[in-house]
Amino acid sequence: MSTVRPIAPGAVRWIVRTLEEAGYETWAVGGAVRDALMGRTSVDWDLATKATPKQVRRIFSRTVPVGIDHGTVGVLARDGVMYELTTFRRDVQTDGRHALVEFAERIEDDLSRRDFTINAVAWHPLRDEFYDPFGGEEDLSAGRLRTVGDADQRFKEDYLRILRALRFAGRFDLKIEDVTWRSLVGLAYRLQTLSPERIRDELIKVLSIDPSPWRALSLYREAGVIEVLYPEIGALREGLWDDAISVVNALPVGRPKLRLAALLRPVVESDAVGLLVRLRLSNADTDAVARLASATDLPSADLDPTLLRRWLSRHGRTVMRGLSRIEIASARSGRGSKNLRMVVDSWSRLRAELRTSPPLKVDDLAIDGGDLKKMGLKPGPVFGEILNELLEHVLEEPQRNQKAILAHEVEKILQRRSVKIDGEADSL
Ligand code: ATP
Ligand code: MG
Repeated sequence: MSTVRPIAPGAVRWIVRTLEEAGYETWAVGGAVRDALMGRTSVDWDLATKATPKQVRRIFSRTVPVGIDHGTVGVLARDGVMYELTTFRRDVQTDGRHALVEFAERIEDDLSRRDFTINAVAWHPLRDEFYDPFGGEEDLSAGRLRTVGDADQRFKEDYLRILRALRFAGRFDLKIEDVTWRSLVGLAYRLQTLSPERIRDELIKVLSIDPSPWRALSLYREAGVIEVLYPEIGALREGLWDDAISVVNALPVGRPKLRLAALLRPVVESDAVGLLVRLRLSNADTDAVARLASATDLPSADLDPTLLRRWLSRHGRTVMRGLSRIEIASARSGRGSKNLRMVVDSWSRLRAELRTSPPLKVDDLAIDGGDLKKMGLKPGPVFGEILNELLEHVLEEPQRNQKAILAHEVEKILQRRSVKIDGEADSL
């Protein structure tokens, strides 16, 4: 049937042989088979078997109960890789978020509960035989994405499939077949019922795996999903949105946080933070992405060094690195306001500045709170204000970062302050 022959790792054939010799029919299923049909090799081999988890654990000596509830057992093979074996299943009850499953006797049942035809092809690694009851291979070669069975029903069983459809269509450049498309657009408003974690994981998959995520993101928007799940981005006018997804597209795979920050750069900071919190990212990730998303553009290379140091003082080295990548991607996308030369020049200037190790934080100052106390000052909020003024003084001229010079500066600050206070008193 197919001209493309999958090549399964030896360990996969060993697992299948072992199970079949014990009397349990076993197939390769899911992403690896689909990828093989497209001529791509996959490392993620999922196997579906008639053996129950208990039987699987009896047959293999090294197993891991990865998802006993779902009937999934990990088998550690001799190649050191863990392969997931899932007992044939059938959905008994679904509510759009969770499914109640029971074990099934036949691979047909197992395939018919899978989401899309291209994901519902089984391949037998020993007999090199495909089992494709829903025409997944034909859809794949026609560049078409379609649900297994009635689209409305399948999406209502699990709304996450809407996002999966957009992700697969984007990643493999497939056209979503009309009935499937109309159905998912009509049901997109129900996505809010999904847990934030599942919604987030889908977005992160698009951002981390897809070499051309603008397609999936465009589909998110066309389908009305952005409006429902990410209204903060949905509110962007079209030009800004197009620019943002082009930049995301020009950033490398495997850097989802960088891509997320690029997507959020046109959004106002409070909205971006709100969105990140809703996604339930860790505090550290929320903070890192929000900083990058809201940082002011890299300063132009011909600016006064003081301004470059002020920028570095405010944003730090990590943001400098991330933002350089984002601005380079923006220049490459041809949509940014800067060309590649300008971005690289800014970045080199900032790096050159950093190499001189200038004081950039209050902690870098040659004077600290203890010194202020010794100078007879009473600790309080005024300490922070003075230290910040000193930092500004030092950012203008790093050579000034010496105890004696700063102590002198403190005197001047105090004088100015008391004059100001007197002045204010006078004007009362
Ligand atoms: P990826 O390359 O993203 O891992 P995949 O096809 O392997 O793609 P998985 O999420 O790993 O996707 O799931 C493996 C298989 O399980 C799918 O190919 C599909 O057959 C089935 N599947 C996964 N999630 C669902 C779902 N929500 N509804 C129906 N079937 C699903
Ligand atoms: Mg997979």
